[in-house]
Amino acid sequence: MNKIQNYINGKFENPIHGVYIDNYNPSIGEIYGQIPNSSKEDVEKAYQAAADAFPAWSNTTLDERSKILSKIANLIIEKIDVLAAAESKDNGKPISLAKAVDIPRAASNFQFFANAITQFSSEAHESVGLNAVNFTLRQPLGVVGCISPWNLPLYLFTWKIAPAIASGNCVVAKPSEITPITAYFLGEICNEAGLPKGVLNIVHGLGTTTGQAIVEHPNIKAISFTGGTKTGAHIAKVAAPMFKKLSLELGGKNPNIIFADCDYDDMLQTTVRSSFANQGQICLCGSRILVEETIYEKFKEDFIKKVSELKVGNPSENTTDIGALVSKQHLEKVKSYIDISENEGGKILFGGNKVVVSGNENGYYLQPTIIEVQDNNCRLNQEEIFGPVVTLMSFKTDEEALTLANGVKYGLSTTLWTNNLNRTMQFSKQLQTGIVWVNTWMLRDLRTPFGGAKESGVGREGGFEALRFFTEPKNVCIKYD
Ligand code: NAD
Repeated sequence: MNKIQNYINGKFENPIHGVYIDNYNPSIGEIYGQIPNSSKEDVEKAYQAAADAFPAWSNTTLDERSKILSKIANLIIEKIDVLAAAESKDNGKPISLAKAVDIPRAASNFQFFANAITQFSSEAHESVGLNAVNFTLRQPLGVVGCISPWNLPLYLFTWKIAPAIASGNCVVAKPSEITPITAYFLGEICNEAGLPKGVLNIVHGLGTTTGQAIVEHPNIKAISFTGGTKTGAHIAKVAAPMFKKLSLELGGKNPNIIFADCDYDDMLQTTVRSSFANQGQICLCGSRILVEETIYEKFKEDFIKKVSELKVGNPSENTTDIGALVSKQHLEKVKSYIDISENEGGKILFGGNKVVVSGNENGYYLQPTIIEVQDNNCRLNQEEIFGPVVTLMSFKTDEEALTLANGVKYGLSTTLWTNNLNRTMQFSKQLQTGIVWVNTWMLRDLRTPFGGAKESGVGREGGFEALRFFTEPKNVCIKYD
């Protein structure tokens, strides 16, 4: 059985107390490895390594840092086959998706911040008439904590680590205990790329032990967290009295608003993807599909037909569209929402059942599921399900669509399908979300601010926003004669 280790000070180490937890392969429902459940003492050791590395790393030239980050990016691409296979096995996602999206994006995260740090600048203000000039010194924070979820494991882990180290910080990072494997490989890659020891330290373990120890550590200056809203609220409660900087990327319940004047074929194809990519386990998936009444019946029929053609199957087969859900517990949670659908006034139009995949009978498979609902206040429309389940609802007017879209506690992203420019602008201004995609979905430009409004998060990642988060601005005012 594979037993992975923590990556501390450039070395692979067993957890101090020797406590491990099981790691499952969701496509077959079996344990295939163990990972450390790191304690406070392990986190302290990782912190010390990071603190010792900080003086030298924060003084490394931008050119040198940039070269190392580029090298990490190149090595990720060189190892794409191994990493994609590992990600698919650990998470249950189709290998084709890991190869096309997860791993290339992890490389892009490093390459992007390798470039961005060479272009990052700060402001200067001449105080005219006062014989003074002000400039802003942007300095790294010191040791920072990065905590990430299981849905896009290496993709989101590196999205935090790359800007943190690019801007001169040293990191204690924890991937999800449910999908730790590619994070383990990242340690090897960092050594191969020549990242100085201690700049990145990776501790594995449960959120309530290892994650909690990172958040509670008195000298870890900032926490960049992606995960559930409930966990985010808990982290904020622990970190706030310690005055840590916090970036919280949390849950979503994203609307997909479809108007009759859209490019129908493009919309239909993209909506299948935005509903069910990665088994619907992407925080940006559109889980509430709102359709203008005049095309509602046609959409319903066409959407069901397209979704029925998706192949649920073994993630390691290239023809699979929908792989396994990440864990048994998560499968049961998602299924429990399907089971309450009737009580919530919903009607299952397609799917709703677990799937037995031949040869992988104990894997965690679920049909892509479409549920028609009447009331936006039902639990299916209000709570994050985070699986291959979408709801359908019709609307008559722009005002109604906007009210429905904004009528949840979350505010991460919205997809809007229309060719009407005025409507596009009105919705863009009035939607309570961090991201609005118009006639597309998940088209990402890494320079843009990324994050959510309302209970979907606090702060923004991406581009210079991430570099600003990981640096402290200091105003220097120089008076001259
Ligand atoms: P989660 O909140 O259960 O766990 C996320 C991470 O936090 C894991 O590494 C976990 O071990 C850790 N954690 C748990 N308790 C902790 C604690 N007390 N202290 C410190 N760390 C702790 O989330 P998950 O189930 O892994 O991921 C799914 C959630 O993530 C969904 O809600 C999804 O919407 C959200 N998500 C959001 C974004 C975004 O960008 N907004 C992206 C991806 C996923």
